[in-house]
Amino acid sequence: MFDSLSDRLGGVFDRLRGRGALSEDDVRGAMREVRIALLEADVALPVVRRFVDNVTELAIGQSVLRSVTPGQQVVKIVNDALVEMLGGGTAELDLVATPPVVIMMVGLQGSGKTTSTAKIAKLLKEKHGKKVMMASLDVNRPAAQEQLKVLGEQVGVATLPIIVGQLPVEIATRALNAAKLQAVDVLMLDTAGRLHVDQALMDEMKAVSAISVPKETLLVVDALTGQDAVNVAQSFSGEVDLTGIVLTRMDGDARGGAALSMRAVTGKPIKFAGTGEKLDAIEPFHPERVAGRILG
Ligand code: GDP
Repeated sequence: MFDSLSDRLGGVFDRLRGRGALSEDDVRGAMREVRIALLEADVALPVVRRFVDNVTELAIGQSVLRSVTPGQQVVKIVNDALVEMLGGGTAELDLVATPPVVIMMVGLQGSGKTTSTAKIAKLLKEKHGKKVMMASLDVNRPAAQEQLKVLGEQVGVATLPIIVGQLPVEIATRALNAAKLQAVDVLMLDTAGRLHVDQALMDEMKAVSAISVPKETLLVVDALTGQDAVNVAQSFSGEVDLTGIVLTRMDGDARGGAALSMRAVTGKPIKFAGTGEKLDAIEPFHPERVAGRILG
């Protein structure tokens, strides 16, 4: 995860730390390299600019340059700014509501939405002791409902029985009723994937949201798509009230651009990171840990 960005930044900061004293020019030189590293990592340009300007201003302060370990202080400033850029603290799911609490999952086809639905269901069941039910509202892609059922069996979470021919809103209504009857704590609705941001499907998503009143609406995006992931998040957040992002395929993401730009560009917190194909390969997104990983 973030290997190439980490290597680039590691080189810059090793050089800084290796020097006893630092001049303003040394800091500015290092920040130029940081800027290039972030741009190569596909971080959005305005985000890079703001980051570099903030860090430079703090780092060329006299208290830093005159300190005993200026290199280390600069790295600490960069670390804090990275944590901030990644969203500050960990954004937890908010499931405080009368059950069944609804989590609506949305996203483009192939982003890892159905897999993430099952992963989160497993996590809620095993780590939080919740009784979870999942329902697929995807009537566009043949076998989507079947896929969720199979995943449900693998993670030991109930899925709503499939009735062929029902519309998404009808399935959502049936899921809500079933969840109430069965005293389910959390109902996860896996909405239809889409190839691109498409108005008909957006309207469908809004209709499902209106009747199910989700406490969490999580957008699943693929980290490997970099700035596209951020653009997708912006498009979706213009249509529905997203409460968080699930960033998948972080396991293969050497660059980190989506993770680093997401919060600053969209204002939405990354709540989970998908880290592999296995159904336990998901973790809450911890900005401090991710920053630590990037800085090595
Ligand atoms: P959907 O069309 O958005 O529902 O996508 P799927 O959930 O069917 O996932 C598409 C593919 O991506 C599957 O092969 C998943 O195993 C894989 N996948 C999902 N999340 C991750 C992840 O975090 N890391 C990796 N490496 N693969 C993932």
